[in-house]
Amino acid sequence: MLTRKEPTPEEGFEPSLAPIYSARDLSESIPRYRLPDGPSSPRVVAQLIEDELNLDGNAALNLASFVTTWMEPEAKSLMARTLSKNFVDAEEYPQTADLADRCVNMIADLFNAPDETGATGTATVGSSEAIHLAGLAMKWRWKKLRGEAAASATPNIVMGANVQVCWEKFARYFEVEPRYVPMTPTRYILGVDEALSLVDENTIGVVGILGSTYTGEYEPIEELASALDQLQSERGLDVPIHVDAASGGFVAPFINPDLAWDFRLPRVKSINTSGHKYGLVYPGIGWALWREADLLPQELVFHVNYLGGDHPTFNLNFSRGSSQIVAQYYNLLRLGRQGYAKVMGALVSTATWISSELEATGRFTLLSKTDALPVVCFKLTSAERWSVFDLSAALRERGWIIPAYTLAPNASEIAVLRIVVREGLGRDVAETLLSDIRAAVERLDVGHVPAPPVTRHKRAAATGHAPRHHNPGRGVC
Ligand SMILES: *Cc1c(COP(=O)(O)O)cnc(C)c1O
Repeated sequence: MLTRKEPTPEEGFEPSLAPIYSARDLSESIPRYRLPDGPSSPRVVAQLIEDELNLDGNAALNLASFVTTWMEPEAKSLMARTLSKNFVDAEEYPQTADLADRCVNMIADLFNAPDETGATGTATVGSSEAIHLAGLAMKWRWKKLRGEAAASATPNIVMGANVQVCWEKFARYFEVEPRYVPMTPTRYILGVDEALSLVDENTIGVVGILGSTYTGEYEPIEELASALDQLQSERGLDVPIHVDAASGGFVAPFINPDLAWDFRLPRVKSINTSGHKYGLVYPGIGWALWREADLLPQELVFHVNYLGGDHPTFNLNFSRGSSQIVAQYYNLLRLGRQGYAKVMGALVSTATWISSELEATGRFTLLSKTDALPVVCFKLTSAERWSVFDLSAALRERGWIIPAYTLAPNASEIAVLRIVVREGLGRDVAETLLSDIRAAVERLDVGHVPAPPVTRHKRAAATGHAPRHHNPGRGVC
C-alpha cells in the first residue's frame, strides 16, 4: 500500500531514473512517479529496474520470512511457461484446473481427511485468502445454526493474541468480533482453558495455529478439540476448530506424523496452508480445505458460465496466475512423502544445530521448541547494554536479515530474534551465520553501535508518509 508521491520542485528537479550509462540510449530521463510521455528501449528499462532492485535485500540471506526463495530449475521453467494462463479460465485450461484438483486431493489426504466425508478445497493466493474464505464459511454456518437469533447477535471468533495479522483483517473486514486469548510471560501460544472461557453461543469458531508465527510453537489442537467436545456435551454448543497450518501444514505430517492436529480430529472442520511456505513454492499459493463439502455454504460458491461451461468458484479474486499451482503440483510429484520428509528433516536438524550453538554462547535463551517449526526464536538471557534490535541491525551490516520484534500481548515486554530455517540455509551457511552472530555480539559488547537499517517504513516516515504502526511480529510472515 503506497501513498501517492508528489514531485518535489523545491529540490530543483523531478525525481527521475537515469543511470549514467543509459545516457548512451536515453535522450531524456525517465520520471519516477509519473507515466513517461513516450516509450524507452526495453534493454535500458530492464537494466534500470534491475539496478534498482539490487538495493533489495538478498533473498537467500532473508531469514525473516517463511516464504520460499529457492526452487529447482525445472520448476522455474514450468512456471515461466505457464505465466500466460489465467487459472480461472478452467474451460480453456482444463488440465491446469485438473492439476489444482489433484493438489487439493493430495493435500486433503496428507491432512487425513476421511474418505467418506467428501473433503473439498480450493487454491488461493496464500493462507490469508484461505483464512478469509474459511472464516466466511464459519460465519455463514454459525448464522444458519443460530437462525433468527443471528440477526441481533454479533458473531465472534476466539484465537490467541499471537495470530498472524490476516486474522485481525478477517475479523475487521467481515465484521466478526475478535476475542483474543492473551499471552503470559511464560506462555506464547493459545491457552485451552482461557480460550474456552471466551466461547459462547455466538462463537463462529476457535483458531488453532500449527506453527505460531512468533515462536514456531504448535498450539495444543488435540487438547482444544477435546475441550470443545466436552463443551458440546455439557452445554450443547457445537463450535468448530479451524487450524491455521500456514507453515506447519507441510512440516508436521512429515516430522511428527503421529501428532493429531488435522482432520483426524472430527472437531477440525477446516485447515489452511501456504504452498509458498514449507510447500516449497514461490509466492502466491495457498490452500483452503474443509473436511466435508457441506461445511461450505452454497451461498458462498459462485457459478459462472461466461468462460464456457459451469465452474463453481470460491475465491476472493477472479483472475489469478496458474504457475504457482503448476509448481505446487510439480513439488508434490517430485518430492513425494519421502522427499518432503527428507527436506523437512534437514531443516529441523539445521534449526536444532543453530539452537544448540546459540545456547552454548551462554548469552541467549531459546523460546522455540524442537517439536515445532524449523524456526529458531531466541531472546537475551540477561540484560545487556545492547538489545536484540541492535543485534538485528549489526547482522544487517553483513547482509543477514533477521528480524527482532516483541511478542504478542501480554508477553510484549519480551523482545526476540527469529531465524526461519528454509531450504538454502544449509549447514555451511549456518556456520557462517553463527560466526557472524558471535562477532556481532563481540562488537556490541565493546560499544559498537550499528546504524539502524534503512527500511521502507523509515524512508516513508522521512517523507511524512508513515504507515500505521502495528506490532512488527504480526507483519512478519
Ligand atoms: C504466513 C502466515 C499467514 C499468512 O499467510 P500468507 O500465505 O502469507 O497469506 C497466516 N497464518 C500464519 C500462522 C502464518 O505463518
